[in-house]
Amino acid sequence: MTVRTRIAPSPTGDPHVGTAYIALFNLCFARAQGGQFVLRIEDTDRTRSTPESEKAILDSLRWLGLDWDEGPDVGGPHGPYRQSERGDIYKKYCDELVEKGYAFHCYRTAEELEQLREQLREAGRTALKPSDLALPEDEVERRRNAGQPYVVRMKVPESGTCVVDDLLRGPIEIDWAQVDAQILLKSDGMPTYHLANVVDDHLMQITHVLRGEEWINSAPKHKLLYEYFGWEIPVLCHLPLLRNPDKTKLSKRKNPTSILYYQRAGFMPEALLNYLGRMGWSMPDEREKFSLEEMLEHFDIKRVSLGGPVFDVEKLSWLNGLW
Ligand code: GLU
Repeated sequence: MTVRTRIAPSPTGDPHVGTAYIALFNLCFARAQGGQFVLRIEDTDRTRSTPESEKAILDSLRWLGLDWDEGPDVGGPHGPYRQSERGDIYKKYCDELVEKGYAFHCYRTAEELEQLREQLREAGRTALKPSDLALPEDEVERRRNAGQPYVVRMKVPESGTCVVDDLLRGPIEIDWAQVDAQILLKSDGMPTYHLANVVDDHLMQITHVLRGEEWINSAPKHKLLYEYFGWEIPVLCHLPLLRNPDKTKLSKRKNPTSILYYQRAGFMPEALLNYLGRMGWSMPDEREKFSLEEMLEHFDIKRVSLGGPVFDVEKLSWLNGLW
């Protein structure tokens, strides 16, 4: 089996150091095992995605030397991988789920959804379930004939526990009661992250998904989608989020988070890469200064520690001085 990893940034702003951190670990994980690293642009949110942001992400990854094997600008039989160019593929798979009874057209209006959420809150529940959203068949028919817009939602269990296996964390238990009947296809026909992500990871033969821990709560939906499609789920690994020195989630008020800042301020790309490599990972000899080549030589995902890695511009400046 060829190991294949990917990063899937959304081009909705400046290139973020967190994206480079996740990219670095995916690249090391794949290359250390003779595998491939894929770049996919997740630009299905047409209101927030911009070509400028996509270009800045690609340029930043290249500046850092994080080269991808497949993806935008690589061409050939693979790529470019832009979700906005793959709408028909997601639609086809979504139709398949509806045909098999694993997803349904939901004609609920915005006002109705608001009311339903309010009722849930009062009942002390959190997630909207297919049973909450259901409408009598003749009402569905009426709304369909009136040409009312609809979304496609996936069916999810009402209760019980979902166990997701994580390469670093072991089994993670998530209560189905917290999981919504997730929208898969929006009323404009565009897929949501969840549908497009699962379909693409499968079609792009991704074997290992290394992503930030903010996606753990999405994992049950993804696991269920793999089951519905009858596909093998990739190995999941949720990396710890970058933190400010006070342990809060990395924010630009405390540390510059845009790679463009470091580029413009004259930081060495090798130093930033070296620093990102130290985020939750250490060299067997605990050395602080190392190159991408050296990191690749020693990379072992099991050396990642889960205790929130701290990103501190002061420390990065110090490391930069060593290069
Ligand atoms: N598009 C998601 C992001 O912007 C990708 C998450 C994932 O890796 O599954 O982070």
